[in-house]
Amino acid sequence: MSRLLNLPPALAVPDSSPLSARAHQEPAHPYRTNFVRDSARILHSRAFRRLAGKTQVFSRNLGAETSDHLRSRLTHTLEVAQIARSIAAVLGLNANLTEALALVHDIGHPPYGHAGEKALDSALRAHGLTFDHNLHALRIVTHFEERHPAYRGLNLTLAVREGIIKHSRDYSPERHPDLEEYFLSQFPPLEAQLIDLADEIAYLTADLDDGFDSGLLSLDSVRASVPLFRSLHDSVLAAYPAAVPRLIRTEALKRLLNAFVTDLMESLAHQVRELRIETIDDLRHAPRRLVAFSPPIEAERASLKKYLYQNLYLSPDMEQVHDHATHIVTSLFNSIFQNPALLPADHQAEIPSEGLARTVADYIAGMTDNFIEHAWRTVKKN
Ligand code: MG
Repeated sequence: MSRLLNLPPALAVPDSSPLSARAHQEPAHPYRTNFVRDSARILHSRAFRRLAGKTQVFSRNLGAETSDHLRSRLTHTLEVAQIARSIAAVLGLNANLTEALALVHDIGHPPYGHAGEKALDSALRAHGLTFDHNLHALRIVTHFEERHPAYRGLNLTLAVREGIIKHSRDYSPERHPDLEEYFLSQFPPLEAQLIDLADEIAYLTADLDDGFDSGLLSLDSVRASVPLFRSLHDSVLAAYPAAVPRLIRTEALKRLLNAFVTDLMESLAHQVRELRIETIDDLRHAPRRLVAFSPPIEAERASLKKYLYQNLYLSPDMEQVHDHATHIVTSLFNSIFQNPALLPADHQAEIPSEGLARTVADYIAGMTDNFIEHAWRTVKKN
């Protein structure tokens, strides 16, 4: 028997919403909605396939912890899509729009995970610019992907483009007049808001899993630092006293993921009732984003995240890998900046409109971990 947590029906973005409009008009498909088609366009894009070669947390090429079971940015993306789509379906939101947003949410990430992103941002700051993976994702889907004879980009719906920009943060209209069409002074629809927390739920639980698998995290230290995990782990131990430790751990992680998802859905339904939100317009002008955990689960999320920063993301075990990423991104950026002839012809053609620094960053941001290693070796040889 499934329970439904239906929100007021007018909170779901309808398939026929003005938000399903595209920049280049196209005839409607006889059988598929625009949001279903957006998912397909994202899934069939080259940038999506490259996610398989990009680091999520663990590099495939470096470090003693390498294993084919550790998440890449592609498998992380698919996990976010599964979680976000399930939440949207239970809540009666537009699950197809949610899925498209989840599939595209990390498409703007450079190689080498957050170390790569930080290095690229620092390289750009020396030229008075910054790197932002959401803005880069928008450039990928509106410009760099070429899949149509008549225009550049994937011609995605307005709802998906708005969600790419706004799923995880707000941008000030004063500082970003170029993003005017994305309603910067308003919150995005719930389908976009829930991507940010589905992303958090996916990576926090997956990184614990990969952290255990790689041997970098110990069960005792997680139990000591994350009270919710400890209590779930205790209840699994009590239910299956003879089970092998790895399966007890896995079952506790499944319950942890489920606890986060359940809390997110219930507290969203509670917020909507409390603030009397009935239409998309109401939630766009609400006093705050509506998708959030309840205070006790938010405290658990914060302690888990802090634990992962201290013991995994910024741990001494990862230092060598991060230093390597920083070195390669920084030196490749500087080499190409000093010798733009190293850029492929299609990127060289961008220099007059984008400037050299942005063009070099765009080229590097699109690379996979393997590709940047290869590019760096080639540049060093010559
Ligand atoms: Mg993500």
